[in-house]
Amino acid sequence: MTMAHLRNSLSYLSLKELTSPSKHTLILFPFRSQITSSTSRNSNPDQLCLHKMVHQVPGLDSKETSSIVEQIFDKYTSKNVKRNGKGIAIVWFRNDLRVLDNEALYKAWISSEMVLPVYCVDPRLFNATYNFGFPKTGASRAQFLMECLADLRKNLMNRGLNLLIQHGEPEEIIPSLAKSFGAHTVYAQKETCSEELNVERLVRKGLQQVVLSVQSKDSSRICPKLQLIWGTTLYHLDDIPFSPSTIPDVYTQFRKYFQAVEAKCTVRGCIRVPTSLGPAPSVGDWGCVPSTEQLGLQSQKVSRGMKFMGGESAAVGRVHEYFWKKDLLRVYKETRNGMLGPDYSTKFSPWLASGSLSPRYIYEEVKRYERERHANDSTYWVLFELIWRDYFRFISVKYGNSIFHLGGPRKLEYKWSQDQKLFESWRDGCTGYPLIDANMKELSATGFMSNRGRQIVCSFLVRDMGIDWRMGAEWFETLLLDYDPCSNYGNWTYGAGVGNDPREDRYFSIPKQAQTYDPEGEYVAYWLPELQALPKEKRNFPGKSYIEQVVPLKHGKMNSQTSQNTPLTGRRNNFRVNRR
Ligand code: FAD
Repeated sequence: MTMAHLRNSLSYLSLKELTSPSKHTLILFPFRSQITSSTSRNSNPDQLCLHKMVHQVPGLDSKETSSIVEQIFDKYTSKNVKRNGKGIAIVWFRNDLRVLDNEALYKAWISSEMVLPVYCVDPRLFNATYNFGFPKTGASRAQFLMECLADLRKNLMNRGLNLLIQHGEPEEIIPSLAKSFGAHTVYAQKETCSEELNVERLVRKGLQQVVLSVQSKDSSRICPKLQLIWGTTLYHLDDIPFSPSTIPDVYTQFRKYFQAVEAKCTVRGCIRVPTSLGPAPSVGDWGCVPSTEQLGLQSQKVSRGMKFMGGESAAVGRVHEYFWKKDLLRVYKETRNGMLGPDYSTKFSPWLASGSLSPRYIYEEVKRYERERHANDSTYWVLFELIWRDYFRFISVKYGNSIFHLGGPRKLEYKWSQDQKLFESWRDGCTGYPLIDANMKELSATGFMSNRGRQIVCSFLVRDMGIDWRMGAEWFETLLLDYDPCSNYGNWTYGAGVGNDPREDRYFSIPKQAQTYDPEGEYVAYWLPELQALPKEKRNFPGKSYIEQVVPLKHGKMNSQTSQNTPLTGRRNNFRVNRR
């Protein structure tokens, strides 16, 4: 994000906030009140009240969203799709919570006379993470997911269907529904990681126990089939010019390789689902979208930062807002490393992870933008980031469970610490390093953190604290709205130096990162309001005015002067770090 952009968005915040008093600072952060009570030249009311602002993402009202959704649905549905099947087909919705460009839904419709759409609220999603027992799905993501379900139901109902919401394990529910409805096929999106693959295997096994009929000639049994459909990536697995086992390991090679074949390998067009998807089967009780409390979680209200709206309608609204209404696509490449506010990057990830947004739809919108408005590095760069996302998905196919293992795909043996106190200081944003603490507080408060922030807090946990990277990855798994096993564990193994890329020493120097990406301390002051009273250049380097640092940095000192001499580290640097 350029400073001009930052300032614009901040002055907007301040104006809005000036209408309400800012006394919350002391109530919310009483233990740091010695700073907020300072009479420094920076303690103006504009800055003191920034922390209260909530940005809804997308920032459209419901009327505007409905009108966009109507237009897009008109464009992406077709009256001319022919139905040639018999009987009933089930669509088992998983991480593809959308109507548009949904191949499973499309195939179910054309292969049947009636479709039964089902979502199983699997209690295992609300258990604990694998190694460290954190909540597997935190309240914010649960809330987001339920909003996705409510919106999916609404969009299906508008097209003559509904969504059956059942609480339980898919391997119990799906075969039992297939039996009751005599469904010949269950269509679902293919997943790639072990927990999801295991459920697929169990559902298939369950369906094999359901006998729909017995053929008279050879007494063979006809059971419902499970048809799994590839659907998460921008490029289809079958279209990329290598098999999963030959996917290049080093991202830069992958990229060059990909560039070389980009001309040959095309992104498939979005599937045009029929305008009307009915008739719906007769179902006594379609089930309710559970509340977070019913899922055993305490609902969490976002009171600062970004509040994402779940669902396909919001997703389509966000694409419209970011590309067309705010015209931000043309500057994406320059702003994408920002940390503050909704507009420095697309914020598509929560919808992509839940499948309420199709990457192919984003692709088509980028191409339309390039035709109608402007084509530049930024428009390409959004697609480049989606290729990153694809890459981690394909790598999960290649490496299977090793992306979750301590030694990662490369099976590297390092000595890691699991010091609980250090970990908690990271988790709670109390490390004494404002840039780390602000990012971790944002994550807890909103379920989101910028890509820049994620890289910095990952490097700090792994390299400065020496903590087992899986603790960080599992904490992200709990909280991220956009949690996706491939992108999360792929990025963590990469950041921890155990990934498939041998450029393992990705040390992010906090002083350097702070100076480059938060030179005036606006981001840290937003999340740590007690720093607002400090001079801007001190906010990231508060010394004794802030809580004590829990560990020293491996490289570079937390002092704004000396850090000028710290080598630039990060994504593009091969900076060798002593191994623990
Ligand atoms: P933009 O900058 O607008 O990018 C557009 C899209 O490209 C994103 O929505 C995302 O789908 C994709 N993308 C961008 N960068 C990456 C990347 N490094 N890896 C994979 N996809 C990318 N992303 C997730 O979607 N789920 C995760 O669980 C996740 N965990 C992460 C953990 C760590 C330690 C790190 C460093 C990154 C992680 N990311 C994850 C990637 C990235 O941080 C987020 O996708 C991005 O910040 C989302 O914001 P955005 O949609 O505004 O991204």
